[in-house]
Amino acid sequence: MYRNITLLGSTGSIGRQTLDVVRRLKINVTALTANRSVKLLEEQAREFNPRAVCIADENKYLEMKNSLADTDIKVFGGDDGILECARLSESELAVNAIVGIAGLRPTLEAISAKKDIALANKETLVTGGEIVKNAVIENGVKLLPVDSEHSAVFQCLQGAPRGSLKKIILTASGGPFFGKTRDELERVTVKEALNHPNWSMGAKITIDSATMMNKGLEVIEACHLFNVGLDDIEVVVHRESIIHSMVEFNDNAVVAQLGSADMRIPIQYAITYPERVESPCLPLDFAELGSLTFTKPDREVFECLALCERAFGQGGLMPAVANGSNEAAVELFLSGKIGILDIPRLIKKAMINIPNKQNINIDDVYTADSEARKIVMSEYS
Ligand code: NAD
Ligand code: MG
Repeated sequence: MYRNITLLGSTGSIGRQTLDVVRRLKINVTALTANRSVKLLEEQAREFNPRAVCIADENKYLEMKNSLADTDIKVFGGDDGILECARLSESELAVNAIVGIAGLRPTLEAISAKKDIALANKETLVTGGEIVKNAVIENGVKLLPVDSEHSAVFQCLQGAPRGSLKKIILTASGGPFFGKTRDELERVTVKEALNHPNWSMGAKITIDSATMMNKGLEVIEACHLFNVGLDDIEVVVHRESIIHSMVEFNDNAVVAQLGSADMRIPIQYAITYPERVESPCLPLDFAELGSLTFTKPDREVFECLALCERAFGQGGLMPAVANGSNEAAVELFLSGKIGILDIPRLIKKAMINIPNKQNINIDDVYTADSEARKIVMSEYS
């Protein structure tokens, strides 16, 4: 079990649930970071007494520094401050709970400082997959999945001999708009999109779940984490979110991981791996559940899933283009400027207009990300 962790993105949904796990397991916190929530970061710092905190938004730096002036906690600001926190020597594990491509550099920084990584930030692998995987191998660190589906696959694979995996079956809740037609999607509101049936999460991933972009990002994440191709992954809609994913072996035996829809299970497993200790999560009651259902995803209505698969198939910069255009489009949707069907339309536009390139480096990824955002924003400025 890890004893000293750094938590990047501590004020978000995963961040707060991670601190709940940390509090129960009595783990030391080396650093906490946030984007702009000064008040909550201050509260967390006073409770967990890390060596350092960082507020990414430079405009909030003075306020943050003043709020902790009576403590000996070091206060950093800006993106560079997040990187400082990611590499602090005491921590053994960096939990990355930042949302979006903003998590990519901090992941790489922590890896190069030889930290193991508990990765909730799926955009890290979507945008920088090969680069991150090479850095993991070069530095001999572990990359532990936190995303519930990937944690499930990881758990199912424990003890499996190399070469025995035939297929990964990723489950998807289908989100709030499962079963709707394109015409019906045309009229959905932000409020409806934010109302996820099974999970309470940050706004961006909740919209990604409503468009099924989230499942597309997760397909790419799974290809990288488990070194498989698109053909080795099947997505199945499972409305109840009880089976968190499954693996099929060469002999067609299927192993699944089940549990209540509570992110503290995968978060805790990444921290205690390979141990299992008590958790506050509710046990399953099978008689109460009654039945579990499965259906095919509709890639015509939920185009984002197919777009992510296409982007991964094209390789190179395309996954970063799909991700960056989605991040910008989701912001526009959340601010009421576009409808939900404009999200896949804008992703497609970015993917068509940005020339692809293979053998990419980190600067190429950030350039593709900003080009993709520009294409999206050009319609709405
Ligand atoms: P959230 O919006 O609730 O929290 C995001 C955190 O990142 C906050 O602490 C915020 O301050 C910080 N942050 C935002 N922008 C930043 C920036 N530019 N620089 C530095 N820090 C920044 O998001 P969340 O729902 O907790 O999701 C976090 C990540 O975990 C996402 O990648 C998401 O896809 C993934 N994930 C979340 C869940 C879930 O249940 N919430 C499940 C699986 C995976
Ligand atoms: Mg997930």
